[in-house]
Amino acid sequence: NKIILLNNRPTGKPQASDFKFTDENKPEIAKGEILLKTKFVSVDPYLRGRMSNAESYVEPFKLNKPISSGCIAEVVESKNESFKKGDFVSGSLDWKEYQVSNGKGLLTIDASIAPLSTYLGILGMTGLTAYLGLTEIGVPKKGETIVVSGAAGAVGSVVGQIGKILGCHVVGIAGTDEKVAMLKSKFGFDDAINYNTTKDIKKAIATACPNGIDVYFDNVGGDISDNVHANINRFGRIIVCGAISAYNETSVPTGPRVEHFLIRKSVLMQGFIIGNYVEKFPEGIKQLSKWLQEGKLTYTETIVEGFDTIPQAFMDLFEGKNTGKMIVKI
Ligand code: NDP
Repeated sequence: NKIILLNNRPTGKPQASDFKFTDENKPEIAKGEILLKTKFVSVDPYLRGRMSNAESYVEPFKLNKPISSGCIAEVVESKNESFKKGDFVSGSLDWKEYQVSNGKGLLTIDASIAPLSTYLGILGMTGLTAYLGLTEIGVPKKGETIVVSGAAGAVGSVVGQIGKILGCHVVGIAGTDEKVAMLKSKFGFDDAINYNTTKDIKKAIATACPNGIDVYFDNVGGDISDNVHANINRFGRIIVCGAISAYNETSVPTGPRVEHFLIRKSVLMQGFIIGNYVEKFPEGIKQLSKWLQEGKLTYTETIVEGFDTIPQAFMDLFEGKNTGKMIVKI
């Protein structure tokens, strides 16, 4: 039974040597427990924060202990009345091929409604982040302009599509020409900008947003966000969802100070953490499923195969190797 442990707290970009593979005997279950076989593992940028020892909204991983993330698993043995063999569950699980659980915190999911992997993406944490971040903090009105960074990723691609459903002008920022093309052709963005090849990003944003920006859904922070902020409208709303450009920095990045434009433009800037909205999850999943069934929402996934590829899939997030949700299929 293979397990992946945190070997070192990464300095800068995570490396293969920060992870350690180990093996144990397949575990046995006692009364009230279930044996789970991991089927899909979600790798997410926020796990980088948990690999550091810094204080955050989730506890850091412990050294030499298994790393955990959102996973889909199959119940292969059950001594717990709430679960039967063959059930599929989602929840935060260890990076192990097999593990024992008492079922607490696990949700039984229906493979006949949607493919299992979608419960980690569009119908899971990242879909909910897009929906709740945009609607609870961004509150976009019909006709307004939304800019989203990290636009071709799991969260960003959903944010843009919801923006279109709500009748907004939507502009995405992403790292390759292929991603930019896909945002427009597959996800219906009005325009998109490649931040790696565009010389004057501030100007490109201004051109793509002739009426300025009302809502900025920020997944990346850093220079990209400075250029978006420069184009924000009066009473604009900024959802600070992520700052992936800074996750591997070893010192605090500096940039233009934000107070100035926040005051001058009466802008609302609010940090978002999905865990603060648990009571809204059922409503969110219902709405996302409805849009999915109606064909108003679509998704893409980057699925890599094999337990051993989990660390590399995680590291690839910081190289932009994924489009849509990055998932490891076991
Ligand atoms: P993504 O699927 O968007 O994957 C990460 C993407 O980030 C990459 O594909 C890459 O795309 C982009 N990226 C990587 N490095 C940089 C960089 N230096 N500058 C700019 N872009 C970069 O991940 P998620 O959709 O899962 O997450 C998106 C963001 O939302 C993350 O910051 C994450 O931490 C945050 N998040 C926050 C949550 C919350 O509750 N606060 C919940 C879920 C996610 P490209 O090729 O375009 O560079």
